[in-house]
Amino acid sequence: MRIDILTGLPSLLASPLNDSIVKRSQSKGIVEIVIHDLRDYSLQNQRSIDDYAYGGGAGMVMSPEPIARCFDSLMDEREYDELIYMTPDGTTLNQPMANHLSLKTNLAILCGHYKGIDERIRQHYITKEVSIGDYVLSGGEIAAAVLTDAIVRLVPGVLNDETSALTDSFQDDLLAPPVYTRPANFRDWEVPKILLSGNEGAIEKWREEKAIERTKERRPDLYDRIRGNEED
Ligand code: SAM
Repeated sequence: MRIDILTGLPSLLASPLNDSIVKRSQSKGIVEIVIHDLRDYSLQNQRSIDDYAYGGGAGMVMSPEPIARCFDSLMDEREYDELIYMTPDGTTLNQPMANHLSLKTNLAILCGHYKGIDERIRQHYITKEVSIGDYVLSGGEIAAAVLTDAIVRLVPGVLNDETSALTDSFQDDLLAPPVYTRPANFRDWEVPKILLSGNEGAIEKWREEKAIERTKERRPDLYDRIRGNEED
């Protein structure tokens, strides 16, 4: 899989994409992540990528030219499954969306800044708009890093044990059960005995029960959905 990220602030993406699992996905050669500095596509003397908003008002707007030129050069090289714009008014990112995108070959992700991007880019280039939640960030870089991480860890071969992703929260509409590690007794707080029993069937059943219990308690909306699906 290849992910191209278009940004006016490449340095913001350096750390989140060059550590841990996202870094491993690249060193294993499974995922290629390429960052593009939109200033390199500016035709202005100052390499500027923003301008005043038509109609006035506070805040600058990202100019269409550098974004269009960058997308054009990428699309000359390969076909993209999606050209994504990170934006608070997009579809909220969830696990099914991450699963779906992890099966794609080429994705491009555009990070906005200032008041956002010129609407014509949204109309004529963007195929998918993604929000990471109902709040406003200063720029799309952190949101793009969140989306990239959520996708990349699901790409086959990235995690050492692929079943790990399958047992995470939301994969089956359930939250994950509690987890413990050594020591079995920490400050007199004991690990549930069942986890030390070696009885795989009983442990599996316990985890399932705890996942259901936790979902019912913390996310009744998900719990009701599972029950609805079971009744259907
Ligand atoms: N004026 C825009 C609005 O009210 O919808 C907000 C612009 S925001 C200050 C600048 C950029 O940050 C956006 O263009 C977008 O790329 C990114 N951004 C902010 N919040 C986001 C969110 N919740 N999800 C995804 N991207 C976000």
